[in-house]
Amino acid sequence: MSDLTPMMRQYLEIKSDHPDSILFFRLGDFYEMFLDDAVKASRILDITLTSRGKGGDGADVPLCGVPYHSAAPYIAKLVEAGEKVAICEQVEDPKTAKGIVKRQVVKVVTPGLVVEAESLSPKENNFLLSLVRGDGDRWGVAYLDISTGEFRVTEVDGNDAAWGEVACANPREILLPESFRESLSSVSRGDLLADRTFTYVDDWVYDQDYTERLIRNHFGVASPDALGCEGFVEGVRAAAAILHYLQETQKGKVDHIRELSAYRTQEFMVLDESTRRNLELTSTLSEGKKRGSLLGLLDRTATAMGGRKLRQWISYPLVSIEKIKERQDAVGELAGDPGLRAGIREALDGVYDLERLNGRISLASSGAKDLVALKMSLLRIPPLLALLGPAQSSMLQELRGGIDPLHEVADLIGRGIVDDPPFVLREGGIIADGYHAELDELRAISREGKGFIARLEAKEKARTGITSLKIRYNKVFGYYIEVTKSNLAAIPDDYIRRQTLANAERFITPELKEYEEKVLGAEERIVDLEYSLFQQIRQCVAAEGERLARTADRIATLDVLASLADVAHERNYCRPLVDDSDILSISEGRHPVVEALNVSERFVPNDLLLDNNEHQVVIITGPNMAGKSTFMRQVALIVLMAQLGSFVPATEARIGVVDRIFTRVGASDNLARGQSTFMVEMMETAAILRNATPKSLVVLDEIGRGTSTFDGVSIAWAVAEYLHDTDRCAAKTLFATHYHELTELAVTRSKIKNCNVAVKEWNDQVIFLRKIVEGGASHSYGIQVGRLAGLPAEVVERAKEILHNLETGEYAEGGVPRIAKGKRGVAPKASPQLSLFEQGEDLLRKRLSGLNISSLTPLEALNILDELKRMV
Ligand code: ADP
Repeated sequence: MSDLTPMMRQYLEIKSDHPDSILFFRLGDFYEMFLDDAVKASRILDITLTSRGKGGDGADVPLCGVPYHSAAPYIAKLVEAGEKVAICEQVEDPKTAKGIVKRQVVKVVTPGLVVEAESLSPKENNFLLSLVRGDGDRWGVAYLDISTGEFRVTEVDGNDAAWGEVACANPREILLPESFRESLSSVSRGDLLADRTFTYVDDWVYDQDYTERLIRNHFGVASPDALGCEGFVEGVRAAAAILHYLQETQKGKVDHIRELSAYRTQEFMVLDESTRRNLELTSTLSEGKKRGSLLGLLDRTATAMGGRKLRQWISYPLVSIEKIKERQDAVGELAGDPGLRAGIREALDGVYDLERLNGRISLASSGAKDLVALKMSLLRIPPLLALLGPAQSSMLQELRGGIDPLHEVADLIGRGIVDDPPFVLREGGIIADGYHAELDELRAISREGKGFIARLEAKEKARTGITSLKIRYNKVFGYYIEVTKSNLAAIPDDYIRRQTLANAERFITPELKEYEEKVLGAEERIVDLEYSLFQQIRQCVAAEGERLARTADRIATLDVLASLADVAHERNYCRPLVDDSDILSISEGRHPVVEALNVSERFVPNDLLLDNNEHQVVIITGPNMAGKSTFMRQVALIVLMAQLGSFVPATEARIGVVDRIFTRVGASDNLARGQSTFMVEMMETAAILRNATPKSLVVLDEIGRGTSTFDGVSIAWAVAEYLHDTDRCAAKTLFATHYHELTELAVTRSKIKNCNVAVKEWNDQVIFLRKIVEGGASHSYGIQVGRLAGLPAEVVERAKEILHNLETGEYAEGGVPRIAKGKRGVAPKASPQLSLFEQGEDLLRKRLSGLNISSLTPLEALNILDELKRMV
């Protein structure tokens, strides 16, 4: 290091503490990046990479930089690309520093810890999640959205459940113990790792004493139990790792994280990762878009926090009948009162993202505009409360009582901050007139001073008779009087020369300087005073952060309820009866999303009955494209909607609460996971058979498709039997299959019933009726569907022949259909349109019709008969 410049030495020292971040090293007006950081950042940011000497061994050092005052978009871009950025500032005044200026990292921006509005999607949380595995495969999971302060913790058993929570939270960054680095890919599913940043934390951080101390100190409690974390050893370790990481990256500015909300997964319906994907709860399978998902359909929220809350309700449906009914009551009341709904919508339309405003205010990264947005939002609350005045349902009444208009905060901002403040905080123009006496006085002086200059200019013009005389201002000389060269003879004696230009000279007078001091001094003081008054106001607002957070949460809840009510009303949903029975019964159910999006075909409603007795397993047969998947998904979605408190697309429904929904749908392509589709299918099936309970709903859409027919039927058969026969996992099951052989199961198993999706056969074509009827399908209609899909006529005809032979058991040795072998072996190429039967018959017919029987001898007749016999 000896031949390095002192600054490079300082750089490398700081960089060694932040090896996995890009170091933004403040040099005057720029943040500079060096070495590998520079190479990487210049590529991501598309900025020029240069170099300079005096790296190690005198080598050139790659370097690039961005101006400090416009660094924000560059930081955002790097973070978006999954990088972390350590901001290193000069922490002493370069003018007074002896030797090299002291520098220090003041903050590390990471993908999971972003607060800037531009880098966040309004209706989605941006979570940093921490995962730790303890003894006995017990996992701690904690996640924090630093922009809103939401911090949750739980514990689960087993790998699947842990990664299920990861899928639910959908975090941007995941914290793991260093020792986990190696085993990560073997325990987690490949596609869950994509697009996330992984950060490894030293193992000692997870030490139980240390983690408990962190929690106690941060939340000011005697023990983590006080936060509802009883029994959560691993959960506490996971949550504390987040606090530790915050200390390292935020350097202590995290006061707005005041609550840790501990939850137990048993309080919610469990949805594993593939079920969430298959049911397209928050994004579609094919394109990953919100439009086309259940969330896309239900989200009519007016505020960003409402949007986030709805996403959470969909990810965590309830199992408590009481809580579900509370939500239903509120949705029902709102659905029945269009005026109330419209009023709420109007009031909420002007409410900004209170949670994120609160976060930025607490982190002191908010500007004056944020405070004004907060005030505007708070002013919407009193009319909202008035609207809720007559509300009957307990939840709406509670919201009315709990939404706090924070009058004094709105009032303080209203009095203190102008309505349209500038973005920059250090140039004044923020604080309202009349808020602070000294500020008002300084402003008067400044205004008065400016008037004085104008008057003085007029006076000097009169005194000297120089009409072109001007009083001007610049930063170097302050105020001065400018006189052109041709008028110099007329200047009075008290003018003091300051500067000579080509055509003019500039002067000052004692009077001018006296006023200048007053005015300029006042302006400087105004800017300083305004900034400190702004900080005071922001601190006062920040002190009310907890109240604001609670109010924001309740407004979000109201927004979600109104949104659900809106959809229920518009789409004619019914309120399902939710109870603890074992019955799932739906009359005229519809698929909420298909119904809404597919306008070209009228949606055909269907009924359903599932219970734990005679209708435990319902096998649904019918051709491809008939509507089996749609029906099964609609049942799962209706159950889920009912348990999140929504109304459902049906005329009547009774939903005995389910503990989990499992789906195994189609042969989804999982090349990203590096596993064959059949393997994934079997793994998912195995997980269902391991984890389902009699309270679960299982949706199986085609099992055993990815292998040979005989294997497939056998596996599907055995799975259905197992679900039926094994008490532990006798879940209510919908089982769609194109193996119509499975309908036989109903004969021997009392709790298995058959249904099929009705089709009409007409002129060898199938017409889909979309109606679920009792009984099994007689055959699979695969060939007809193939024809519909545009398979060439020859292929369709040939398939029919083969099918016929298979069905009549005409196999050659080795199991190959006889006819198939025939075609490959003997088919004459000349007339490909003719089938083999037709060709054979044709030749026979020709030969026979050419015979003149009356002229044949008996021997000839015998020989011809032998020839004909050999032709068939
Ligand atoms: P399957 O699972 O039997 O192959 P799908 O459930 O995928 O069939 O349905 C095929 C198409 O039929 C879907 O694209 C859907 O739009 C339409 N469809 C399904 N059920 C209905 C229904 N009840 N009413 C109207 N259209 C339906």
